[in-house]
Order: sequence, then C-alpha cells, then structure tokens
Amino acid sequence: MEELLERLLEECRPATGQGRVADYIPELAKGNPEALGVYVIGSEGKHSWAGDCRQKFTIQSVVKPILLLQALLDNGPDLVQKRVGVEATGKPFDAINAGERALDSGHINPMVNMGAIVMCTLIRGGSYEERFQRLLGLTRQLAGDNEIGVDEAVYQSEKSHGSKNRALAYLLKSNGLLEDSVEEVLDCYFRACSIQVDCRALAHIGAVLSNRGRLPVSNERVFPAPLARYVNAILMTCGMYDGSGEFAIRVGVPAKSGVAGGIMAVVPTRMGIGIYAPALDQKGNSLGGIQLLEQLSKALYLSIF
Ligand code: GLN
Repeated sequence: MEELLERLLEECRPATGQGRVADYIPELAKGNPEALGVYVIGSEGKHSWAGDCRQKFTIQSVVKPILLLQALLDNGPDLVQKRVGVEATGKPFDAINAGERALDSGHINPMVNMGAIVMCTLIRGGSYEERFQRLLGLTRQLAGDNEIGVDEAVYQSEKSHGSKNRALAYLLKSNGLLEDSVEEVLDCYFRACSIQVDCRALAHIGAVLSNRGRLPVSNERVFPAPLARYVNAILMTCGMYDGSGEFAIRVGVPAKSGVAGGIMAVVPTRMGIGIYAPALDQKGNSLGGIQLLEQLSKALYLSIF
C-alpha cells in the first residue's frame, strides 16, 4: 500500500500546479500550493501514508458532516430533515439559494454553507460556547485525536472577511429558517471551519463513517449505524458541491472537500482516506486531491458503483 501511495503521489504532483489556493479568506492564501499528502486507515486498523500527511490545515467544510452528525445525534433525522433538506443544490457551496420563491428548507442541504449554518442552531447546549465545545468533542473522538483545537489566525480571518456568510445567515433569518442571533450562530460556524486537522485525522473520521459508526480497532460505537447511512448518502450526492456528479463517476465514494485543501473520503466497510492538497479547482475542491483519489479508486477498485 505505501508503495502504491508513493507512486500515485508522484504521478499526481504535477496536477497541483493547475489549481489555485483559496484566498477569499486571506489566511488561507498562505497554504503551499505544491503540498500533497494522503493517509489511509483500513477497516482492520492498518495505517498507510505518503507525502505531506502530517501537515496541519483547517478542516473548513469537512466539518459539515460532523455538524450534521451532532445535529442528528441531538434531534434525530426527522427533525433535522424538516429544518434542512437532503437534495443536491447543483450550485456552489456559498450560493444564495433563493429564486423567485421564498427560500425553502428543502432547497438547501447540510453540505452547503446555508445548511451547515442551520446545523449550528440544532446542536444542543445552553450557549453557543457549549454547543461548539460539544462539536469539538465529537470531532476529537471521530478523529482519534484529543489534541485537536482551533487555528486562531484562520478563525479571526474568516470572521473578519465573512460578509458572504453573513448575507447567507441573514437571508436564512429573514425567511424564518434561523431563530438565534446571526453573530452567535456564525461565530460557532467560523470556529467549526477553523478546527485544525491533518490527513490522519480526516482518514480516521472517514474510517468511522466507513465502519458505520464504530471506531477502528476498538470497535467502540460513536453513533448508531443508521446515522452513518444518512451522512454517507448526503456525502455521495452533495459532498463535492456542484462537482458531486463528476466525482461520483471518477472516484465513486462518499467524500467531503474543504477550501483549505482537505478531502475526507469514505469507502464503506473498507477504509477512510484523508487528503491534503490546497490548490483547488474552480468549484473549490482540491484538484490534486481528486486526481489522487481517482487513481487510488482505479488501482483498488474502490468505486461503489
Ligand atoms: N469556511 C468556508 C466558508 O464558509 C468553508 C467553505 C468550504 O470549505 N467550501 O466559506
């Protein structure tokens, strides 16, 4: 496995040069566009890796499935689905998803910003500080790393350059989809996006989702199996935004991307994969990361289709 990962990494390295590091959050512009790392955790607990896999970066939208999971654990699927739908939007992650009709909860899903912002309001807790701490606790458990924390510089950068997300949140509020204070909810969302991870952490989260809610090796249950089905299904159809269809053809497994360059992929019953390659394509997905996953999927027959 290590040899395969090393070979694919070298093959895919040139692709990173075709992408661009996100700069709409100024702090993210510091990412090294040539970095490329991969980490795999198999269902029996074997770890394999190559490249820049211990480099730290912010989780960004890869936190969305964890926000969804926490909301599902706290409220159950019926209530969550009433508040945020499950259909692909076919639009970019930060699209203003309202046309002539009023914004409808069925027109957003938990993998786009509007849906993830609503998820913050569905986490139980007496304050937004407590809600965020519960989310961080779940992230640490899923990632198998108790040291995980927030990258303060990215958090401040997101908060002070978050006009688009503020617009999305106010639109949700004016359409009755968000009751709490916009600033408090967004603070939780910005901090969630700024949680610092590496490829190993993403692979571990993917391994728990692939293992239907159980930790690798110990088999300890973190969440019930039906919730894994809920989250994995939405990752398959919406996890790569308006690139989800093409990703389903090229790679064929549930996955979630983030604008810092991370991808978390779930190969049901087989493995979790964590990728880091900050140069992105036009849809905000890691360009080298997708190419690496495509090659890995071909080599190991990972596609579920
Ligand atoms: N924090 C980012 C934002 O809200 C997350 C987007 C992403 O990773 N696609 O814009």
